[in-house]
Parts: sequence; C-alpha cells; structure tokens
Amino acid sequence: MSVPPRIGFIGLGIMGRAMALNLHRAGFQVAVYNRTRARTTEFADLGCEVASTPRALAKMCDTIITMVSDPAAIGEVMDGPEGAASAFQGGNALINMSTLSPDCTSELAKKCYAAGVVFLDCPVSGSKAAAEKAQLVILAGAEKPALERYTPVLKAMGKEIVHAGLPPAGTALKLCVNLIVAQLTTALAESAALAQAQGIDPALIFETLAHNPALNCGYFSLKKDNILKRDFPAAFPLRHMLKDARFMLAEAAKRRLELPVTAAVERLMTKSYNSGYGDKDLSVVLDTLAEPL
Ligand code: NAP
Repeated sequence: MSVPPRIGFIGLGIMGRAMALNLHRAGFQVAVYNRTRARTTEFADLGCEVASTPRALAKMCDTIITMVSDPAAIGEVMDGPEGAASAFQGGNALINMSTLSPDCTSELAKKCYAAGVVFLDCPVSGSKAAAEKAQLVILAGAEKPALERYTPVLKAMGKEIVHAGLPPAGTALKLCVNLIVAQLTTALAESAALAQAQGIDPALIFETLAHNPALNCGYFSLKKDNILKRDFPAAFPLRHMLKDARFMLAEAAKRRLELPVTAAVERLMTKSYNSGYGDKDLSVVLDTLAEPL
C-alpha cells in the first residue's frame, strides 16, 4: 500500500515543530493543529493548511501524528468534543509520538482498533537538536505491516526505528531509555556540585570524561554548556522528565520492582519543579542541589 497523501500533525512544541517541518521538507503534504494558534503561523507561511480543531484536522487527513505533552493533552486533542477521534474513519491511522504512560497508550490503541484505525505507538529518543536534524531514534510498538507502511513517514523524522513489539511496547522501551537519561543528567549535576564544593573546576570533569573513551558519551557534551554556564534553556523540559520518572516508578510498582535510584531522582526533580523550574531544561536540577536542604 502506498504512503498516505496527507498527514495531520498535532502539537508544534519543541519537538513537534521540528518534526512537522521535516515531514514538510521531505515532501509530505502536511496540515497542522496546535492549541496555541501562534505556533502555526510559520506552517501557514510554508503553504500548509492549518486546522482550527483536531477534529477539523482529522477530517482533512488520512494520518494523524500526535506530539503533545502528556496523557491529559492526548485526552484533550483526541477525545474532547472537537477531538480528532470523533472524525476518525476506518482506514485512517494514528501515530502517537508523545511520551505517554503505557496504560494511556494501550487505551489509545484499543480505541483505534475499535474504530478500524491503524495505531502506531512511536515515542522518540533524542532531543531538540536530533529532532531538528531528523536524527531521532523511533521506538515503535506496532504490527509489522503497519510499521513497514509508515516507515517512509517515520524516516522523514528519524534515522533509526527500533521495533519493540506491539503497543505499548514502544512506550515501555522509551521509559527504560529515559530512566538512563534522567540518571545521567542527575549524575552530571551531582558531580558538578561536588566538584564545586571541593574547589575543583567542573570543566575538568568534562575534560576527563572526554579523554576516557569508555566515558566519552555524546549526551555529556550535549549538557556541558548547561552545567558549566548554569544556563538551562529547555531542550527537554524538566516537567516532561518528571512525568516520565513517575510513569517509570508506577510501572515498576505494579510489578513489585524497586527502582531506588530513579525514586531519588524523582524526588530531586519534584523539588526542582516545585521551585518553579518545570519549563527549564532538566539539567536545572543542578540549581536545586545548590539550594539548602
Ligand atoms: P512542549 O514543547 O512542551 O510541547 C507540548 C505540545 O503539546 C505543544 O504543542 C502544546 O500546545 C501541546 N499541548 C500541551 N497540553 C495540551 C492540551 N491540554 N491540549 C492541546 N495541546 C496541548 O513539549 P516537547 O518537548 O515538544 O515534548 C512533546 C512530547 O515529546 C512530550 O511527551 C515529551 O515527553 C516527549 N519528548 C520530548 C523530548 C525533548 O527533548 N523535548 C524528547 C523526547 C520525547 P501549546 O503550544 O498550546 O502549549
């Protein structure tokens, strides 16, 4: 089956904007919806159709891609009176790329299957820079034929697709990967705080890591400026990683699995969030470490 002619993209935030632009650049016919209309202007300027509601978008498109914040946002854009689901017909497809909980993803899959809609659970690994360069790694939970059909669409946004199984396997894998990202970020922040407390320049940590091939990790370079300049413009907002850490802990608790380090990271991120840092990059936990306990 050929690739569907028109893609409706919902959620033009840090990630979605870059991903929708890449679909447009790759030659797909892209129409968009975003809750805050101002974010659609550059797409209208590029000749993309802008829908006033998710329902209107779903009426004009065969395939809907969602890249919104969280389960509440998905509920809003899918199930509200003007939600996309109310316009779905058999043969349509929904590709969710937001990071949701596995339960929310399973619910979404169930609703799609009941309506004869193809569903792909496709959260992504990689942040703003990877989204801009179409270098995301897509973690897919989908039937193989559906994944094959939509591979050209996914490859316009990402460089690799890891097929984890059926929904919500993509989301389950995403949480495992983000567990490492959350801990690595906190490790960098704690290491910098300890260096500073001992009168050691934190830049020397990065220099040492870069000299050691076993520790020379691209993610450390990505967060170097945040940590050394104590400047935290959001690439991955803290509020999203906090959401993900809570999903990880909930999934572990269901299976009577303890994640003591992730639990400590979640507490630190909660403190940081409560200090008003939710919209900053997650590396902002460094500032929270410097606050009195
Ligand atoms: P973001 O910049 O905060 O954008 C969120 C998007 O969701 C915006 O378009 C926002 O619309 C929309 N939205 C939020 N609440 C809504 C609601 N109630 N109704 C309708 N729309 C709503 O987030 P992001 O960084 O692009 O991340 C998007 C998703 O990808 C999240 O699930 C995140 O965990 C995941 N992710 C992020 C990164 C990263 O590095 N940033 C990496 C991998 C995965 P408005 O414009 O109106 O606010």
